[in-house]
Amino acid sequence: MARYKESVCRLCRREGTKLFLKGDRCYSDKCAVDRRAYAPGEHGQNRRKLSEYGLQLREKQKARRLYGVMEKQFRRYFEEAERQKGVTGENLLRLLERRFDNVIYRLGFANSRPQARQLVLHGHFTINGSKVDIPSYLVKPGDEIAVKDRSKSSPIFQEIRESGKASVPSWLECDLENLKARVVSMPEGEDLDVPIEAHLIVELYSR
Ligand code: SF4
Repeated sequence: MARYKESVCRLCRREGTKLFLKGDRCYSDKCAVDRRAYAPGEHGQNRRKLSEYGLQLREKQKARRLYGVMEKQFRRYFEEAERQKGVTGENLLRLLERRFDNVIYRLGFANSRPQARQLVLHGHFTINGSKVDIPSYLVKPGDEIAVKDRSKSSPIFQEIRESGKASVPSWLECDLENLKARVVSMPEGEDLDVPIEAHLIVELYSR
């Protein structure tokens, strides 16, 4: 699948907000959003007021970029969210939160979603004892996630284990010492409190 190859900091600047795509750098004074708080490109500093459509479009792009999802797949998430019972916007955020790469990030097993995606692709994790290397895999309550035994000794996981700084949402349980975790429930309420106005995305796709 095609992926975005340019500097990811441009994506944050385009959306005018931190998308936390670069791990520790995002929390340092090197963050491009803090240093250059305007859109990239020649006309980045002359931004005009956005139309209603423009606002909806930007919100969708922001969500896509935050979770690292390509356009077609994002559309499929929306269609699935529409089919489900309940509020479509919340359903959409719930689907995005349940992505395996996002869960690895939420558990603190990676310091950014792009890094989590890469670790998943490299086959470092199991779910219920079987290797899963699909970032878009949707976890469900009861799933047992673990770093593969062979990967536990790698420096990246040693560092994570020693950092002891996992602060995970209530729908997940993490055993950092043993590098394993469990999905306790579906993400609900506060778990879906992400900086995305999902209703704008629903309005965009309902045009
Ligand atoms: Fe975005 Fe992180 Fe780059 Fe800042 S450092 S612009 S938050 S990716």
